[in-house]
Amino acid sequence: MRGADDLSQPARLVAGNWKMNGASGALREAHALAEALSQAPAACRVALFPPALLIHRMAEQVAGSSVQVGAQDCHAESDGAYTGDLSAEMLHEAGARLVILGHSERRTGYRESDADVTAKVEAALRGGLEPVVCVGETLEQRDAGRALDVVAVQLQGSLPDSLDGHPFAVAYEPIWAIGTGRTPTVEQVEVVHGRIHALLAARFASGAAIPVLYGGSVKPSNAAELLHARGVDGALVGGASLKAADFLPIVRAA
Ligand code: PEP
Repeated sequence: MRGADDLSQPARLVAGNWKMNGASGALREAHALAEALSQAPAACRVALFPPALLIHRMAEQVAGSSVQVGAQDCHAESDGAYTGDLSAEMLHEAGARLVILGHSERRTGYRESDADVTAKVEAALRGGLEPVVCVGETLEQRDAGRALDVVAVQLQGSLPDSLDGHPFAVAYEPIWAIGTGRTPTVEQVEVVHGRIHALLAARFASGAAIPVLYGGSVKPSNAAELLHARGVDGALVGGASLKAADFLPIVRAA
């Protein structure tokens, strides 16, 4: 793994997004993962993003291990009259150190725009959270030959200039590959990751050090191929991150 001050190459990261899955009993999976990584350390950073209610307990459970805990979203403001929402500061206090922003399920389900994502990224920085910003095209957009353009527009619109020099990651998640069992070919992944890296390098002084994760139906059987595609610096994993027995082989493949 690279040193924290090495800005020449991205630190690899394998992140598990539990979405709205996992009651307190699921914490045993985080414990099992932390135990396994204590015995045989991973060659990459590892983070779990449980439902917000579990962040505090999970952070306590994995304390002292290499597993980090993150949140799945945050509000753009630090506090105020926003019923049901959580700020970056609150999530940090609970033990989160990263936050997923702009996941397609939020862009679609909550109509989050690129501008909304940018505001949340700014909030994450204020609150001390490392953003993992998601971009990705629909199947319709890919079939129309627009995948690269869509991703480029999302990327430029979702990342504020203030990110430069701060640790953050981008996750390329083709929407048609999320939770469907379908994955793009290695070549398709490499083309998009190459474009994302080029855009990041053109825009940010720290561009070469920004990890670009692939996400969408990563599982133990396809992890090695996807994780070792050119320009892929890790994975954002949904369904296969819920059980340590599935997630661990993905971490080991990174
Ligand atoms: C995700 O939710 O970000 C994701 C990639 O899900 P899955 O791995 O289940 O496709």
